[in-house]
Amino acid sequence: MKYADIIVDISHEDLDKTYQYLIPEQLRDRAVIGAQVLIPFGKGNRQIKGFIIGLSDKPKWKEDAIKPITALAEDALVMESQLISLAGWIKDTFGSTMNEALKTVLPVKRTVKQKENRMIKAALPKEELVIILETERKKNNKGRVRLLEALIRTPSLDYNWVIDTLRLSLTTIKDMEKLGIIEKESSVLYRNPIKETSSTGRTIVLTPPQQEIVEDFLKEYREGTRQTYLLHGVTGSGKTEVYINIIEEVVSTGRQVIVLIPEISLTYQTVLRFYQRFSDRVSIMNSKLSQGEKYDQYIRAKNGDIDIIIGPRSALFTPFQKLGLIIIDEEHEGSYKSENPPKYHARETAIERARLCDASVILGSATPSLESYKKALDGEYKLYRLTDREGKRQMPHIWTVDLREELKARNKSIFSRKLKTLIEERLQRKEQVMLFINRRGYAGFISCRSCGLVLKCPHCDISLTSHNGGKLICHYCGYEENFPEKCPSCGSKYIASFGTGTQKVEEMARKEFPAARILRMDMDTTRKKGGHEEILSAFAKGQADILVGTQMIVKGHDFPKVTLVGILAADLSLYAADFRASERTFQLLTQAAGRAGRAELPGEVVIQTYQTEHHSVVCAGKGDYEEFYNQEMVYRKLMSYPPASHIMAVLIASKEEEKALKASELLTNALKQWEEREELLEYHVIGPAPARLSKANDIFRFCFYIKEEDYKRLVAAKDFLDGFYRFSEEFQGTQVQFDFDPMNS
Ligand code: ADP
Ligand code: ZN
Ligand code: ZN
Repeated sequence: MKYADIIVDISHEDLDKTYQYLIPEQLRDRAVIGAQVLIPFGKGNRQIKGFIIGLSDKPKWKEDAIKPITALAEDALVMESQLISLAGWIKDTFGSTMNEALKTVLPVKRTVKQKENRMIKAALPKEELVIILETERKKNNKGRVRLLEALIRTPSLDYNWVIDTLRLSLTTIKDMEKLGIIEKESSVLYRNPIKETSSTGRTIVLTPPQQEIVEDFLKEYREGTRQTYLLHGVTGSGKTEVYINIIEEVVSTGRQVIVLIPEISLTYQTVLRFYQRFSDRVSIMNSKLSQGEKYDQYIRAKNGDIDIIIGPRSALFTPFQKLGLIIIDEEHEGSYKSENPPKYHARETAIERARLCDASVILGSATPSLESYKKALDGEYKLYRLTDREGKRQMPHIWTVDLREELKARNKSIFSRKLKTLIEERLQRKEQVMLFINRRGYAGFISCRSCGLVLKCPHCDISLTSHNGGKLICHYCGYEENFPEKCPSCGSKYIASFGTGTQKVEEMARKEFPAARILRMDMDTTRKKGGHEEILSAFAKGQADILVGTQMIVKGHDFPKVTLVGILAADLSLYAADFRASERTFQLLTQAAGRAGRAELPGEVVIQTYQTEHHSVVCAGKGDYEEFYNQEMVYRKLMSYPPASHIMAVLIASKEEEKALKASELLTNALKQWEEREELLEYHVIGPAPARLSKANDIFRFCFYIKEEDYKRLVAAKDFLDGFYRFSEEFQGTQVQFDFDPMNS
């Protein structure tokens, strides 16, 4: 390429602001995206540094007005240029614009002011406060009493804490300030999202299998081997302990570590374990942090004030200067795939970032994604296993209950006879129960209550979903049929769309077990900030006997008193209209079962299902990951779904339904013509059809899919479609997005 688009200030808000420079002949093969260059800039042709973020053969101005790049900067591989080349890679791999990719890897907002850290301090010595406290008590000034008591314990308090927790009014604070009892103070501080500092943790001696993994990894790490590892360890096998021991050594060599954990598992309990070991060298990131707080974390990382960052997907772009290791815990989680452009997957992106800065990657899971496990078996990743829990903590015993049998026995309750008996036992023994309702991915599938049959698309082996009552449609290929009056398999009339909400489960549980104390956790009860944490900790403290919840309850916390986990309808997630439905179900069942018996008390699990023979249910019941993998891979191969092949979703959205449909057809037709013109092999196109979310915010959405084994060919198709869409007038008012190997479509 002849010309380079260069940004001179990556902190600039407007990342589109680039300048075009000529690449001198002798630099052409080294001037890649992300490279740092020296360029003449402005009127005086001052030499400044910039980054190449794009390359082209077309001049944007008169050719002789374009200045040449002076040189490649010597320190061409600093962290910034690594992140910029990562953005280039994201753009090419996941089909976004460079601007979208840059905004993802450089979430820098310099406009945010540093937050003042306001404090309330005692203006008088403790003895005097004690005297004042007595008088205020007599006067029954409750607010003042609360503040004085707190100040006697700690002479300097966080202003917001005083307002929020002590519930003091602004007037009270002002009055006390006027009386000279307190004073306000403010200072600019870096905000540390972890407030409490307790560094007393019990010391854990690694088990021999844990020790072996730690030693093997560190041996390779010291020798300079950098690669991707997959740690497949059953639930509760001590993966986190392994991470912590490895991190300790990596950090001691002067390199930094990023730990990705799904947001839902970022509970206080998890974070505390890292904090106890690394105290203020570790920092936490989560979506609840303000922009300013996030920015502080970035600055602290960049300045070398911290060595470890723990956070969800976006923490991957923390600007550490010498990154040594990236850990992705629960690597199978769907939340590692971004739902907005750039629709990148954190796993692949982490591996690319690690490659750029000579780091290793550890992927950990009790239920690895098929993608990762396949790569481990193919030798691309090194596989570690932890097959047991430590000491007395045994894997739980799992019962699978056939709901069809319950119906035959005239038990119409949502609790099977087995589950009911076991719950009653727990209530008597004062142990705890978790009831798990599998609602994720639930999309209005249609099933027979008598035989469990689920209606599927004859072409895609994906559940049909009911749209606006009447028709059943396949959102992959658009196949349609009428809502049947009878079950095509057994003739029963009990055929309906199926769903049981958490609220209903809670109600039923109250009826069935009137003496039990019940907590519910779902989107409704956790909406407010910290609600999630509050419910979990109430349950951990034994303030309830039964916790009812969605997949939210299966993550993060250890509840030593939970000895029974009931999975009410294992099938629900099986019928999500998604080729990953079986995998997700297997993962959810395994993770939910893993909640039982995490401490000394042995655990039991009841899986209720209509599909006792389904491989997700059978294999989760046996705790047999390998068998699940083998069976599921047969299906993926047969249907050419990932990881046997690749698939790209093209989403077309418009305010007008007509337009969206028309645009979808234009694109698929254009693709066909392009194939013929270029004499390419044919692409396998499915659709277009209404997307699963066929209308959102009054925007109509259509979707089509391309299946293709060769990822590069998929990218080529994307480039073609992208160009076609950008340069045709007919697409005015429509938006097109690409999603490679989708997770949630
Ligand atoms: P995972 O991440 O695989 O789910 P954890 O690391 O959270 O497992 O460990 C599960 C529980 O077992 C934790 O309470 C942890 O403290 C405990 N644990 C892990 N390894 C050991 C060990 N070697 N000795 C004692 N307890 C351990
Ligand atoms: Zn039937
Ligand atoms: Zn179909």
